[in-house]
Amino acid sequence: MSFDKIYKKFSQDIGIDLGTANTLVYVKGKGIVINEPSVVAINTRTKQILAIGSEAKRMVGRTPQHIVATRPLVDGVISDFEVTEAMLRYFIDKVHNQTFSFLRRPRVVIGIPSGVTEVEKRAVVDAAINAGASKAFLIEEPMAAAIGARLPVQEAVGSMIVDIGGGTTEIALISLGGIVLSKSLRVAGDEMNENIIQYVRDSYNLLIGERSAEEAKIQVGSAYVLEQSLSTQIRGRDLLTGLPKEINLTDADLRTALTPSLKTMVNAVKAVVEEIPPELTSDILKKGIVFAGGGSLLRGIDKLVSEATLMPVVIAEDPLTCVARGAGIVVEDLEVLKDVLIPLDFGRIPR
Ligand code: ADP
Ligand code: MG
Repeated sequence: MSFDKIYKKFSQDIGIDLGTANTLVYVKGKGIVINEPSVVAINTRTKQILAIGSEAKRMVGRTPQHIVATRPLVDGVISDFEVTEAMLRYFIDKVHNQTFSFLRRPRVVIGIPSGVTEVEKRAVVDAAINAGASKAFLIEEPMAAAIGARLPVQEAVGSMIVDIGGGTTEIALISLGGIVLSKSLRVAGDEMNENIIQYVRDSYNLLIGERSAEEAKIQVGSAYVLEQSLSTQIRGRDLLTGLPKEINLTDADLRTALTPSLKTMVNAVKAVVEEIPPELTSDILKKGIVFAGGGSLLRGIDKLVSEATLMPVVIAEDPLTCVARGAGIVVEDLEVLKDVLIPLDFGRIPR
């Protein structure tokens, strides 16, 4: 075995999906080793970080006033540098501790939302280096999602991807290793939850929390009429009596509730479809628009979008892990895939 092969065999290169809702870490040969909410709990009195990931999410809405559970990537932009860095370090350290990384420090490819600024990109790269990466590269989330969904991004063929996450929906048309057209919306899973809270308040005088709204969305949410109707119980506080109350919500309720978000998303996808250069239209007609991200698990979203755009729609296999797997595929084959990375001007600065 050549030195190069041995080197590769023992490398612990990792791909990271720094999502607004969930952070996933992919390790070569092992698959997804970390999948936790992108949440950090902070004591505002001491500025101390109390918990990160699943543990921090459990605290959401249950903390005393001086403890806040924040999401460092609100709406797809990094709202807090230090917290993002701490979170990234925590996850990279966790992988390090799980694996025998005696040979060398890992190279890291990180999927970031496409709205991120130059300064924020630099901060993410620095955070990864500080957290123990030997080299850090960035990739736009829709590109990583497309690679994770095994779309032929480097070929002279059009591929269209829609990634519905927590904070943002990213729509991109990709060909020859680059993004030809793209659109990023701040309407995605979180906004759907808000729609549900609003609907339940307006229609039932019931105040519910974000987590209950999300649960209802996952249990009975749909974008298109279902063959068999679904229903679930939801609990909250009656706005008239102030007392706890339970109501029944059906898939039809959820469709009404989700209409504002769904309309925005469908219109945005339509707008991108209308701009597809004619040479690439037939590719998309053939292969369909591929959906990834947690939001693509909403029942019937494929039918809704397909009807509106007259294009076939395919939900990627395992849509929640596409970005992390895509970043992992890139880090395993950096020489071949380096063109799909975000060029970093500051990459030459010695450190
Ligand atoms: P991000 O990339 O922003 O971290 P994810 O791709 O992890 O986001 O998706 C998280 C979003 O997906 C959340 O808003 C969550 O409520 C939503 N989600 C997860 N499962 C489902 C489901 N079965 N139906 C609808 N939405 C879902
Ligand atoms: Mg994502």
